[in-house]
Amino acid sequence: MQWIEPAARHLMNCTGFSLLEEDAAAIGFDVFYRIVSTKFSVDTMRKMMEYNVPDLIKDPNCETYASCSAVWTAEWWNGLAPHILHPNYTTVGERIKKELKSCTIPGVCVGCQTLTFDVLEELGTFSRDSELIEECISDVKGLCGDTSPLEKPLYTDRAFTWSL
Ligand SMILES: [Zn+2]
Repeated sequence: MQWIEPAARHLMNCTGFSLLEEDAAAIGFDVFYRIVSTKFSVDTMRKMMEYNVPDLIKDPNCETYASCSAVWTAEWWNGLAPHILHPNYTTVGERIKKELKSCTIPGVCVGCQTLTFDVLEELGTFSRDSELIEECISDVKGLCGDTSPLEKPLYTDRAFTWSL
């Protein structure tokens, strides 16, 4: 049963859908459906995340909010959105979290950026995609009778840069 988790992670990691018809038949409808529906959900989630620019939360001490907000929106579209939809990544939430936490966006005050980051984190914005995938891997293992705990989260090590 040790092959189930690596195989399921590999399928989740594939760009697009590359499962052969005979393989789909071999893994069974329940497992096939679980994997395909999760991939579809993660894809939809990413599109929603990219398209719905989160409001910049106003820091009480900010005196340039209109400008902070305009720059934030522009940078979301120009700097972040292309990374959210990048086809090489299976998950993007954790990567975006790391980037937003470590960079200072020129034109957005630190107060507004920090507050917005904290609210996004509290809402679970950065962890939703990986949580969906981990749930799927866990379910697939269960469907195959493997009751061992999950081995490793699904993050690739590809570089991610904020392109301002
Ligand atoms: Zn501000």
